[in-house]
Amino acid sequence: MVVTNVVEVLVKDTLQSAYLSKHRLVCECEQCQNDIMAIALNHLPSHYVSTALGNVYVKVQYLDAQLQSDVVKEVELASEIVARNPRHALD
Ligand SMILES: [Zn+2]
Repeated sequence: MVVTNVVEVLVKDTLQSAYLSKHRLVCECEQCQNDIMAIALNHLPSHYVSTALGNVYVKVQYLDAQLQSDVVKEVELASEIVARNPRHALD
């Protein structure tokens, strides 16, 4: 049994499917990915569930549509912030 923030799962999935898999980020290093996740998560409510990890993905599908669209919006804003101010030099 684990306690998981399903919003964190959702942010990670959004970052992966909408940005990393399409190479839309200015930089794809771990630090920039973590910065994007941290900024987005700080702007979103957390939503914890205590369940086995496999069931988290089932729960995510039932989260309300408003929260899902907020996640997409916050990941977008966070990726713009990190693109403008990466915490390391870019090539
Ligand atoms: Zn980077």
